[in-house]
Amino acid sequence: MSATKPKLWFLTGSQHLYGEDTLRQVADQSERVQQMLTASGRVPAEIVGKPVLTEPAAIRRVMREANGDPDCVGVIAWMHTFSPAKMWISGLDALRKPLLHLHTQLNRTLPWSSIDMDFMNLNQAAHGDREFGFVQTRLGVARKTVAGHATDARLLGRIEDWTRAATGLAHLRTLRLARFGDNMRDVAVTEGDKVEAELKFGVSVNTYGVNDLVTFVDTASDHAVDEVVADYAASYVLRPELAPGGDRHDSLRYAARIEVGLRHFLTVGGFGAFTTNFEDLGGLRQLPGIAVQRLMADGYGFGGEGDWKTSALLAAVKAMGRGTGLGASFMEDYTYHFGPGEPKILGAHMLEVCPSIAADRPSCEIHPLGIGGREDPVRLVFDATAGHAVVIGLADLGDRFRFVANEVTVVPPDEPLPKLPVARAVWRPEPSLAESAEMWLMAGGPHHTVLTQAVGASALRDFAHMLNTELLLVDAGSDSDSFGDHIRWNQAYYRLAQGF
Ligand code: MN
Repeated sequence: MSATKPKLWFLTGSQHLYGEDTLRQVADQSERVQQMLTASGRVPAEIVGKPVLTEPAAIRRVMREANGDPDCVGVIAWMHTFSPAKMWISGLDALRKPLLHLHTQLNRTLPWSSIDMDFMNLNQAAHGDREFGFVQTRLGVARKTVAGHATDARLLGRIEDWTRAATGLAHLRTLRLARFGDNMRDVAVTEGDKVEAELKFGVSVNTYGVNDLVTFVDTASDHAVDEVVADYAASYVLRPELAPGGDRHDSLRYAARIEVGLRHFLTVGGFGAFTTNFEDLGGLRQLPGIAVQRLMADGYGFGGEGDWKTSALLAAVKAMGRGTGLGASFMEDYTYHFGPGEPKILGAHMLEVCPSIAADRPSCEIHPLGIGGREDPVRLVFDATAGHAVVIGLADLGDRFRFVANEVTVVPPDEPLPKLPVARAVWRPEPSLAESAEMWLMAGGPHHTVLTQAVGASALRDFAHMLNTELLLVDAGSDSDSFGDHIRWNQAYYRLAQGF
């Protein structure tokens, strides 16, 4: 997990046409725009201003420096003046970081009574940025275009979404994922091309025998286990049988031992994500439950049953949502409520739902697990926080990847669920359960997803664009017929865009 705040480089384009005095004013205006963006508190990154750029060699140099700086997650470019976009061609061609084209000007209001040609020439982004838009389109440069005054709420929201996406991308680019065991028998969608994933997304997927993990679990120190047990008692409502002196306390200690060992394994290997498989537990006495839940809450990606794609996606989405105070979790569409009342989906997993989406203090419980054939696993049980969320999944179509997402509203369960021994989320999908399910199935979306309350669909769309990967979004305006057309058009586009 990166401890440093992500950085955005702010590049200002101009030229020598109007002289040094004008260039000093350009630099000053650029700083003030940057200050407005920072002062808004809406940009979840440090904005780093660079000297005004006025010739191609300097532009190439700064782009290459941006490529090489691991803290730089993206580049914002603003063409302040009469700005010949031609000098940016080779620099743009060299850039490998996400690009946001900011179209703005310092002044919100035209000084109607005093405006003269000096003012016109100093506040000419309307010209320079159109030139820049042309050249980016001409070169086929991927970017996000955002227009408006630097204090405008819509503009700030769009920059925030893009910044979050760029932060998730940077995390994914260097992500290392540990996979304990392969996928579950006969499940298709959890399969995929790991070589293509490393090329396209950056994530490296590394497989380990689960007994490599067992060594770390068995050698965890009693002191480290004591500390984690104390943390469980302080953080959750412990069922009496799990508390010290209770007749299942040893199971809680073993669950804590799994957490210590798993965390140590991931730390030593530099891993930011992992998968497990309940059919392949080697010497583990319990399926990892609470350990997985707490590691997710700390920002690790996770996928059940060897699902490395969902695990990598969760790690990226968690990086995107940092600082929002809202959560994201591994999720699975489990079962439906068709009525009475509004139709909704009950999502959960066998154990592994992240407490970052919990509505209340989770309950720490132990129950039998019908599959896996091991000792009863300890898990956290809770309902998810109500409110807007997005579920997003990643499928490998053979020749390329596809994201499928759905805007949803998490709602409280219609009634308490006293006999359901796992954490869960109940949600109303847009535009309705039946239509959402039809479109999800038409798109070939997976049953494993990431449910995020921290980032919305527009940030996820920016993220998909940065990865040059299709995103099919089901939202309130979607309908099955148009969605089917959309899938067919996209199929043609992505095949053409791959070239021959
Ligand atoms: Mn599953």
